[in-house]
Amino acid sequence: MTLATLALAFSLAPQSNDEIISKIVNEAKTNSQAMKSLQELTSKFGPRLTSSSNLERSEKWMMDQFKRYGCTNVHLEAWGAFPVGFDRGKNSFGRMTAPTARQFEFTSPSWSEGTKGAVKGLAIACPKDKAELEAVKGKLKGAWIVMDRQPRRSRPGADAPSAEMQAQIDLDSAIDAMGIAGRVYGSRSELVITSGSFRDKTFEKHPTDRSVTIRKSDMDALKASMAEGKSVELEFNLDQKFRKGPVVQHNVVAEIKGTEKPDEIVIISGHLDSWDGPGAVGASDNGTGSCTALEAARLLLKAGAKPKRTIRFILWGGEEQGLYGSRSYVIQHEKEMDKISAVFVDDGGSNYIGGYNGHPDMKAILQKGMDSVVAAFPDLPMRYTERANPKTQIGSDQDSFNAVGVPGFFTLETGSEKYGTQDYNFIHHTQHDTMKYVIPMYMVQSSVAHAIVGLTVANADTMLPRYPKFEYKLNPEGIPGLASVWPKK
Ligand SMILES: [Zn+2]
Repeated sequence: MTLATLALAFSLAPQSNDEIISKIVNEAKTNSQAMKSLQELTSKFGPRLTSSSNLERSEKWMMDQFKRYGCTNVHLEAWGAFPVGFDRGKNSFGRMTAPTARQFEFTSPSWSEGTKGAVKGLAIACPKDKAELEAVKGKLKGAWIVMDRQPRRSRPGADAPSAEMQAQIDLDSAIDAMGIAGRVYGSRSELVITSGSFRDKTFEKHPTDRSVTIRKSDMDALKASMAEGKSVELEFNLDQKFRKGPVVQHNVVAEIKGTEKPDEIVIISGHLDSWDGPGAVGASDNGTGSCTALEAARLLLKAGAKPKRTIRFILWGGEEQGLYGSRSYVIQHEKEMDKISAVFVDDGGSNYIGGYNGHPDMKAILQKGMDSVVAAFPDLPMRYTERANPKTQIGSDQDSFNAVGVPGFFTLETGSEKYGTQDYNFIHHTQHDTMKYVIPMYMVQSSVAHAIVGLTVANADTMLPRYPKFEYKLNPEGIPGLASVWPKK
């Protein structure tokens, strides 16, 4: 044997499972790319609202990464279409400019009207009745209206409003008609939470009123200034605009093809979309889960893993608006559902994967993988919580699969309490969803757990047993634009 053929023979010798696992762990501990990917994802693209250009660009970037690492069948899969798109730039700000200067932490709803440049105006307390409206009428044009309540609107098809309600509706539409700059609300806490609805909106036709929510301490300061009777001035730049729709929406899909049972599948996933409030970049929700799935692919390929079943990596879209990407996937891939052994979803902030919830009959296969992960990270214990019924796992993309009996696992999110972010509510959909609260070591463990547990399930003698179906919100009609990308016969 020449040296060259010796080397060839050596490289062709199948690796044992233990060898693969130790290579995965070693690569992750010495050369993890998970944080680097997340840093790049969030700095290059920022937040990734469903229907935004940022999301579209980040999908292409993610595809490039999967390809670069050696995944096959890398593609975008359309799950639906939004009637209108929405983009935010990086230049939003809000502040009090008089009588004293104060920078606000604030948000505005996604899919709502922005300003074209900064808009400065007086702060005027929302008139409570017609008499108050008369008194401030001359000051309302261009003013920011400081609110204690939501405005009342007449709703087509609703019961006739009471006289009192009708008076409110009339008052609020009179205020609208005065050409105000927008309405300013106070948050109940120091957190400002971003949400918003795309429904019934198009590029051409959508409400044009502006609304911002500032954190509690900012509202307290604003009201204190107003109470002094001085003229208070606010300035908001809402760097946000609608995009012409419909905009087709996608899941990102990549694979490591199975060697023995390529048509049986293990899915490792997170959601690439995020909310997009000013300052937030969707780092924890769910950049972390997207990048641990990506990193798991890299680790497996780098270690030369040859799974018996196909391991499919999916980055869902439209999760935040209703698990649309995964629900659509389950509907469009209906015939494949019997062949999916398990779906893993890492979507609970910057934590390590502390185990799984699942049926007792599924435990043995997962436990084998978990033992290897814990051996590599002895300080990060994992547990398997037995649950007969997956209905208790409502909240992210695993639900779409559990609904039809496919075992979906929401990874048990563990550990971040040690780092002073004990409450995920502090980050979830707030101004704090930034890189600051991402814990690098947990990205490493999560990627390894995905890779090893995913590989273990892919190599197991049998697929995981099925749950009974319970059909949770899978109706195709509920998924925007599904019919346009998937003409069902
Ligand atoms: Zn999420």
